[in-house]
Order: sequence, then C-alpha cells, then structure tokens
Amino acid sequence: MAASAVILIVLLAAAVFSTARRYRLDQQWTLHTYQVREQILLLINNARDAEMQARSYGLTGRDAAFQQYWHAISALERDTDDIAELVADDPVETAAVKQLRDAIAARRNQLEQIINAYRSSGPAAAQADVIALLTRPTNPVRDVASGMLDREAALLKSREADSARNSRNVAIAAAVALGGSLALLIAALASVGLEQRRRLRSERNLEDSARRLEQALHDASHAGETLRRLARLTELLQNCRDLGEAINVIERALPPLLPEPSGCLALINASRNIVESRMHWGERGPELAEAVYTPDDCWALRRSQPHPGAGDATAPVCAHLVQSGVTASHTLCLPLSSQGQALGVLSLCSLSPILSDMRQLAATVADQLGLALGNLQLQASLRTQSIRDPLTSLFNRRYLEASIPRELVRAERRQGGLSVLMFDLDHFKRYNDTQGHDAGDALLGAFGALLARSCRREDMPCRFGGEEFTMVLTDADHANALAHAETIRAATSALVVPYRSGTLPPASVSIGVATYPEHGDSPEALLRMADQALYRAKQLGRNRVASAGDVAQHMPDVKPAASRT
Ligand code: GH3
Ligand code: MG
Ligand code: MG
Repeated sequence: MAASAVILIVLLAAAVFSTARRYRLDQQWTLHTYQVREQILLLINNARDAEMQARSYGLTGRDAAFQQYWHAISALERDTDDIAELVADDPVETAAVKQLRDAIAARRNQLEQIINAYRSSGPAAAQADVIALLTRPTNPVRDVASGMLDREAALLKSREADSARNSRNVAIAAAVALGGSLALLIAALASVGLEQRRRLRSERNLEDSARRLEQALHDASHAGETLRRLARLTELLQNCRDLGEAINVIERALPPLLPEPSGCLALINASRNIVESRMHWGERGPELAEAVYTPDDCWALRRSQPHPGAGDATAPVCAHLVQSGVTASHTLCLPLSSQGQALGVLSLCSLSPILSDMRQLAATVADQLGLALGNLQLQASLRTQSIRDPLTSLFNRRYLEASIPRELVRAERRQGGLSVLMFDLDHFKRYNDTQGHDAGDALLGAFGALLARSCRREDMPCRFGGEEFTMVLTDADHANALAHAETIRAATSALVVPYRSGTLPPASVSIGVATYPEHGDSPEALLRMADQALYRAKQLGRNRVASAGDVAQHMPDVKPAASRT
C-alpha cells in the first residue's frame, strides 16, 4: 500500500514535471518566434530606410542621405545575418533568408544605380531611375520578408495554441497530482486510523482474553479448593466414631464450603416425628435453627428431593423457612438420606437467588452428609447390637469383659477403688415355671431397668447371662459397694413388675461384692471373687449381699460364674 502510494506520487510528479517542461519549451519557442518577427520587422524597416535615402539622394544629391543610405544598408546586412542565425534550425526559413539575401542584393543594385546615375549623369538621370523604381509593381525584399512574417505569424499562432494547451495540461496535471496526493493523504490517514482502530480492537480482545483466562484460572483454583475441602470433609466424616464428632466436623467444614448462603443442618429424631437443628452458619443461621418441625413441614423431606427444583421460582417456601422477604429461589432444602431413609435436611437461605453452581455443590455436600450420617447411624446400631443386651438394654458380657481391664487401669492410675457386683435372681427357674417364661422375661427387663437406674453414668451395669447380672462401680471402695448392693437388693425385693393386667409376684436377688485392690488386681480375679461371694450369699439363704472378704475362709474353691452358666 505504502509502496504503491509512493509510486503513484512519483508518477504524478513526473507527469507534472514533464508537462511543465513542455510548457517551458513552448514558451521559449514562442519567444524565439517573436524575436524572429521583430528582426524581420527591423529588416523591413531598414530596407525601407535604405530605399528612402537612396531615392532622396537621387532627387537631392545630399551627402547626408548618401551616408544614411550606407548606414541603413549595413544595418540591413546585419539584420539578415541575425535572421539567418535565428532561423538556422528551420530549412524553409533558411531558404527564405537566402531568397531575402538575393532580393536585397538585387534591390541594392537598383538603388546604387540611382546613386551612380546621379553622380555620373546628373539629377535628371537619377530622377528617371527613381521614377522607374517607384513604378515597379513589386518589391522582392518586402515580399520575401512579408512571406517570412506570415509564416512566423502562423508559427506563432500554432505555438501559442500549443503553449495554451500545455499550460492547460500543466494545470490538469497539477490538479490531478494535488488531488491524487490529497486522496493518498486521506487514504493514508484513513489507513492509519483503521490500523489504529484494529490495533485497539485487538488490544481490547487481548485484554478480554487475559481477563477471561484469569477468571477461568480463578474459577479452576476455586473449584479445586472446593473439591479439596469436600474431599477433606468426606474423609473426616468417614473416620468419625459418633454423631457428635460428625457434627463437630461439619460445623467446621460447611461454612467455608458454602460461605454465601446461611444454612442449617437439621436431623430427624429417633422417633422420626421431629426435625431439629444440629448446627447452623451464616447471618440467618440462628433464625433457621430456631425452627423445630415435623418431617412433613419440609417439602424436600416430604418429596425426597431438593426443594425447590432447579428454576422453579413459583414453588412454595417450606413452612420452617417462611421468613419475611424469602422467595423460593432464595432458599434450598436438600434431604439427607441413606439407603432410602431420610435422616435430616440441609437448608440454605441466601440474600441473592441460589444459582445452579451453588445448587450442585450443595447437592454434592448433602449426598456426602447423607452417606456419612447413614454410616454413623449404621455403625451406632451395630455397636449397640454388639455391646447391648436386647432384652434389658444393658451392656452385654462381651462389653463387660472388654471394659473391665480399661477401668482397672484407670483405677490404678488414680489410685482409687473399683468394685464388681455380681447379681443372681433367686429361684428364677421356679419363677419361670410358675409364672411363665414371658413373665420371667418381664422380671429380667424390670430388674435390668432397676440396675440402670441405680448407678451413675460412669458405672457399668450389664447382663452377664441368663438371670445373672454384673455391675462395675468405678471409684467405689468396698464399704460403698456393699452399701450400694444392699440398696439394690432391697429395691429388688420391693420391685413391682406390671405384667399383663396385673403385677408379678415379688422376687429377690443375691449379690456378691469384690473390690480392687483388696480382693484382686486383675479382671478375672475380681470377677471370680465376686462370683464366689455371690455363691456364698446363695449358701447363706439367698436375698442377701455377701462380701468377697468373707469368702476365702468359708469357700476357698468355687467355680467362676463364667464356667457355671
Ligand atoms: P438359684 O436361686 O440357685 O439361682 O436358682 P435358680 O433357679 O435361679 O437357678 P438356675 O441356674 O437353676 O436357673 C436359672 C434359670 O434361668 C434357668 C433358665 O430357664 C432361666 N433363664 C435363663 N435365661 C433366661 C431368659 O432369658 N428368660 C427367662 N425367662 N428365663 C431364663
Ligand atoms: Mg443362676
Ligand atoms: Mg438364680
């Protein structure tokens, strides 16, 4: 583009230069023609003067006329030479000059004939010659010179026409060059403007791309961070041992994972009739957590799917979320479920509409929470099954045997006492036989509840097997343990067990008590000593408490309870 513009400008300049040069040449030729004409006119004038002086001399004989004649003749010669020089390049005019020289020479002869006639023959002869000259019809000098003048006039006319045409051409070329240059200038400016706009546009595009890339990187890093948080939450939840720990983990992990909306995690209770908040976060968290409601009050729990559905702005707002200014698109309830059973609900409430990215993330979180909570519930139920006796809900013998060593270590550390109480219902076989097996079960259940009631949280009541029970009293010395056993024995005798429409006949229990460290320092020794004391109580007539301290001298060798049952 730039190269072609330069070429165009050079061509235009060359055209202007060439037409101007032609115009100047034309001008020179015109001037030359003027000079030739002027010279011819001078020649005609001098020829006329020479003729006039010769005639004057012929008529008057004045010397002055003679002198002026010669003067005019020599001027005439010079004029002829000058003209010859001026038209040297023109063959036609050069030939005309030759004719002129001849004509001048002939005329000069005639004139000098008059002068000679005057001098030799006198004025009369000279006058006759003058008259003869004047009566001659032609004057060759004047005729040739006029012919030359006419040609020069024609030449002048043509050169002036050429000059005018060339001057027009110069103007046109200059106008075209100026116009072309202007057009090129405008085109160059437009091209520069265009280029600048294109550069600005591409700079803007680059900036946009850079911004988009930055945003994408930020989004990717945010998504990566979210995934990491989610993976950490899942991993921690998998390793939680109970619901309390899980709630603790969730309380720390959820707010940074779902920072914008406020939220609340509510769980359905064991009776499955109440949904209650276990944790909350965000500005509206406390408001959300205040609600205690039935599973039916939540659309998500009722329909077992997120509520409202994606893009469903006209959906009703759950009763437990109804607050001023909240519309469906600002809330989201996600059911937490495991193996098809609803465990609770994750409720979100945001100041701005909840977008699909947030919905997706919340749904993933809810899935993970549902799985983890379901897992914990399953673990808890398995643990209960493995450590609890189903009839009395007391700990079972396996749990007891696993726990006593731990309790003993604790007792050793704090240098406190630890007592083992062994219970055996009296004549229970007979009770079964007379009242029926179900009644026997009812009595076992009631006795189990009595044991659970009568001990502290840190004590450990358990069903050892059949109608035999054990209780480990932590931090209790022997006297305290005997007193506690006596309280339970008395309470058993006074126990009223409702059964069917009436109550069961009273029952009694025999109790053996052994205490660490005086009666043994191992779980087996303590259990054996408590069992021996129990045996002693039976021997002494039942419905009584016996101490392991009394056993040694009376019954040194009794089989342990574990082998008797
Ligand atoms: P003692 O006063 O000497 O302890 O006599 P006892 O009849 O209680 O003792 P024994 O060991 O002879 O009988 C225990 C009975 O307990 C036998 C068994 O049928 C009954 N029994 C064991 N487990 C259960 C149970 O889960 N339910 C019911 N109903 N009876 C049980
Ligand atoms: Mg027994
Ligand atoms: Mg018994």
